[in-house]
Amino acid sequence: MENIKTRFAPSPTGYLHIGGARTALFNYVFAKHYGGKFVLRIEDTDFERSEKKFEEDIIESLKWLSIIPDEEVIFQSKRLSIYKFYADKLLNEEKAYRCFCSKELLEEDRNKLIAENKKPMYSGRCRELKPDEALLKTPHVIRFRVDRNSGVATGFKDLIRNQYINVNNDEIDDFVIVREDGMPTYNFAVVIDDALMGITHILRGDDHLSNTPKQIMLYKALGFNMPEFAHVSMILGTDGKRLSKRHGASSVNQYKCEGYLPEALVNYLIRLGWSHGNDEILSMDDMIKYFNLINIGKSAAVFNIEKLLWLNSHYIKQKDPFILINAVNGIFENLGNSNNYGNLQGPLKADIKTAALVESLKTRVKTLAELRLKLKFFTEEDIHYDEEILKEFNVNENELKFFKSFGEFIGGLNDEIFYFAGVNASDEASKKNALESLKNSIESIKNEFNLFLSKNSWTMKEKAMIIRLAFTGEKVSPPLYEIIFALGKERCIQRIEKFSDCINILTNRYKV
Ligand code: GLU
Repeated sequence: MENIKTRFAPSPTGYLHIGGARTALFNYVFAKHYGGKFVLRIEDTDFERSEKKFEEDIIESLKWLSIIPDEEVIFQSKRLSIYKFYADKLLNEEKAYRCFCSKELLEEDRNKLIAENKKPMYSGRCRELKPDEALLKTPHVIRFRVDRNSGVATGFKDLIRNQYINVNNDEIDDFVIVREDGMPTYNFAVVIDDALMGITHILRGDDHLSNTPKQIMLYKALGFNMPEFAHVSMILGTDGKRLSKRHGASSVNQYKCEGYLPEALVNYLIRLGWSHGNDEILSMDDMIKYFNLINIGKSAAVFNIEKLLWLNSHYIKQKDPFILINAVNGIFENLGNSNNYGNLQGPLKADIKTAALVESLKTRVKTLAELRLKLKFFTEEDIHYDEEILKEFNVNENELKFFKSFGEFIGGLNDEIFYFAGVNASDEASKKNALESLKNSIESIKNEFNLFLSKNSWTMKEKAMIIRLAFTGEKVSPPLYEIIFALGKERCIQRIEKFSDCINILTNRYKV
């Protein structure tokens, strides 16, 4: 196929949600697969419901997902004169007409038809009206004159369903193309824009299936080339209902804030209704290489957060720790301290200690938010011990002796072990150097620590959890040697003291 051009045409009446992002992605990879172009058009003619913040969110979210339009973003609100030109053309050619029926009158007609068990449709009252000057000055809409010759049907072949969908023209109202305020309706503007922009394939949600015959009528009436149509089935929640806010996060930005990587989300979205054999892990390049319409499923796809989490942890594992630090900071910078994650101290430093911890933690977390929380023990000065956890591991006064020796051991470690090469996160050689010196330090801590344990006839198995609790307050953490290295002598000793105090308080309390 040649000169393929697709578009994503969201209305900025809400944040970019998962369904919209999937539509954009399908359009993007389809165009790229054929060496074509993808464009973004913001359909903002509904001034009441459109908002700047939604527009910005859509543009930013697509950028974050690496779904980049090939041309400047188009705004329908800046093209009003074009729609007016085509409305006048249709009026002149008597393919459209002005309708002066009041809302009340239309409502009355409608109720009457419903009462008679008939489909509520416009009566056609103004179809043959020849309005005089005075009438023209009164509020009115412009309606499209649907061809009502009996037996006329309008249809198209849907490329996903791989079947013709035909609708009898009698089923279609003389629909409004220009509202009372002079604004074009969706069906009208979309056809003009898609035609003038040379869109060859329209891939969109199947909620637009019923609009397509109307749009086809307009293409014909305006003498435009007809694009191909492909309607993608909707996305359902696990309860079988259409995916919505009720199912938790639904906007792309929300997933970003919860610590999902764009690669994971994009990979997840492409598999939501499309497949390439049994491939689950697909990069953007893979998607572009393999994407086709044939493998888009005909039935609705079900949103499964577990799978998204699985993909996210896969991509987190692959990432350089410094990139993860940046990504974490990107999220928390936006959220400040008013987020769900408690009061976290400032951004993570892009230094070797943080990188070492991130490197270890990245295999144990599913989201960046989780990663950030697991670093709390390192970034927060003060540490909180949860009494329940201490009880769970039966932390008692017998440990005081251990911690006394352990504190002395830490205090006696050679300061050189804690020296580490500075790192310039954007310089690969410097990163490599720093990671090398880090490895040596950790190896030394490990050797010394094992010596200390065996000298005292303690084993790692018995002591690992209690040390982890003392240093992090948590049951899951990076390896102990890394923690000791990252915290440094002074902070390790402070924590040992605080933990010992805590044991004392707890045991005394139990004694009373
Ligand atoms: N603005 C429409 C929407 O957001 C576009 C639908 C289409 O792709 O034609 O649903």
